[in-house]
Amino acid sequence: MTVEETVDLLIIGSGAGSMAAALRAVNGGFSVMILEKQDLFGGSTAVSGGVLWVPCTSIARRAGAEDSPADALAYFDACLGPETRATSRARRDAFLQEGPHCLDFLETLGMRWAYGDGYSDYHEAEYPGGSVRGRAIVAPMFDLRELGSWTERISFNLALPPVMFQETVPLRSRGRTWASKLAFLRVAWRMLRNRLGARLVGMGPALYGRLFQQAVKRGVNFRSGVRVRSLLTNGGRVTGAEVEWQGRMLRINARRGVLLNSGGFALNAPMRDAWQPQPTSVDWTLANPGDTGEMIEMVRGLGGALDLMDAAWWLPGTILPSGTRLYLVPELQQPHGFVVDSSGQRFMNEATSYVAIGRAIYERQKTVPAVPSWLIMDRQYMEKYWIVGRSMKSVPRIWLDIGIIVEAPSLAELAAKCGLPADTLEASTTRFNGFARSGVDEDFGRGRSAYHRLFGDPLHKPTPGLGAVEKPPFYAMPFNPADVGTAGGLLTDEHARVLRDDGSPIEGLYATGNCTATVMGHSYPGAGASIAPSLVFGYIAAGHAIGGDR
Ligand SMILES: Cc1cc2nc3c(=O)[nH]c(=O)nc-3n(C[C@H](O)[C@H](O)[C@H](O)COP(=O)(O)OP(=O)(O)OC[C@H]3O[C@@H](n4cnc5c(N)ncnc54)[C@H](O)[C@@H]3O)c2cc1C
Repeated sequence: MTVEETVDLLIIGSGAGSMAAALRAVNGGFSVMILEKQDLFGGSTAVSGGVLWVPCTSIARRAGAEDSPADALAYFDACLGPETRATSRARRDAFLQEGPHCLDFLETLGMRWAYGDGYSDYHEAEYPGGSVRGRAIVAPMFDLRELGSWTERISFNLALPPVMFQETVPLRSRGRTWASKLAFLRVAWRMLRNRLGARLVGMGPALYGRLFQQAVKRGVNFRSGVRVRSLLTNGGRVTGAEVEWQGRMLRINARRGVLLNSGGFALNAPMRDAWQPQPTSVDWTLANPGDTGEMIEMVRGLGGALDLMDAAWWLPGTILPSGTRLYLVPELQQPHGFVVDSSGQRFMNEATSYVAIGRAIYERQKTVPAVPSWLIMDRQYMEKYWIVGRSMKSVPRIWLDIGIIVEAPSLAELAAKCGLPADTLEASTTRFNGFARSGVDEDFGRGRSAYHRLFGDPLHKPTPGLGAVEKPPFYAMPFNPADVGTAGGLLTDEHARVLRDDGSPIEGLYATGNCTATVMGHSYPGAGASIAPSLVFGYIAAGHAIGGDR
């Protein structure tokens, strides 16, 4: 027997955008139900760094950071390049204009925000309007005790220390600067409080935890372990969904609309093979296990258009035989290291955005194999800096044994061990070392933007991000274009309505987050460029569904 229920807004998937949409709708007096297929809510958002890239916010303004709509637009346009269907003028404007409103609105409901001061735009010096202080917004510390028993219903990564995203920068200097010492003290204080009974969390858990708390408080109906069988339609309009939940079939009618916030397809091997640049692997992703793309395919069956299916939120990474995934972001910015392809040649700016690095690797792969690419380092790198949060003064024996890191007394021997041409590797090293001494990377401009120097060594001269690779032994670390999710999917308009190939909207159907073709296109303007559009277009979708406006 099928049970019939009716709500105003039905949301499928419980990512970032669901929270903004649900809160906007319930605040307007509308009923909302969120359906999550996994047992736990939160998707990738709850395990993420929790950063949002939103220009011109009152949060940044309160912190004294200058920004202007004109600068934001110039920078955004320069990052995105020519308009496409997913990155149309209307969608760009919608994101930039509604982003600050969305954050203010959530704040009035009890959400708290902090400015990620110093987390520079990723292409700040390359494009007009870039911000050195950055446009990153984060959630301050959140005490999970405020969520009560709901804490157990969310897929938090509780192994993370109580750190705020922007603190990861000074922490990496390991107490060598005053900023670093202060950051250590703050984190130690929080850890002490946690030992005394608090449950302080930062980053994604703080963002998702407090948003979820607001939604629960306002009566959003959350259901997990739900299987969506089909979307209900009436005369071309989507009117609800038929789902299986706790052994029963439910027919859920949605008076105002259905919003999909069901993530991408990072865990769907056939979809990855069909759409993503190759080679690729489901083993390379850090996306949540629910990222399997079936809602994208279901809506494709209803005539929904797809775009940007070759895009992903790339992050350089490697994988241990245990299955543990290691991600390399600061590692590529630190001095005394650079990256080469299989021919031993440098081919990119190692310190640019991780998404741009993924694209650079796949571009290179078209002519020279670059999967894996190799991070080449020397003794100075190992003595001074961390790799994936651990000191490398003594490289773990097991890493050397299984080739996570390769060690050799000379560059020629390192090249032989890695299967790279020794003469080219030596020539690349000599050229890179010249740039390290002058402080100017003439080939790829590494160090030009403030972001390129963010994870450099503030004490290193002449520039924090470039240091010669010259002191034996030498090391090489292979890595792949791994990812934290895919970035293409359903084509949506400036109201977050799902569009058909002919550009007409499927009435009643909205989508946001990684199940859509992102408004960011193939670019990544700054930290938080994935969660922000999910949240903002969720907010926009709800506004349109309940009131017909943006
Ligand atoms: C470790 C890590 C750190 C990151 N840090 C950042 C960061 O700081 N800033 C940033 O912008 N991005 C970051 N990202 C990427 C970002 O977290 C994701 O791209 C973003 O959270 C995706 O959000 P979403 O709204 O699309 O949905 P998700 O958070 O992915 O949630 C989608 C949900 O939908 C559910 N679902 C799927 N199919 C169905 C279905 N058929 N029925 C019901 N439910 C379904 C899934 O189970 C999942 O729970 C990070 C990612 C990771 C893994």
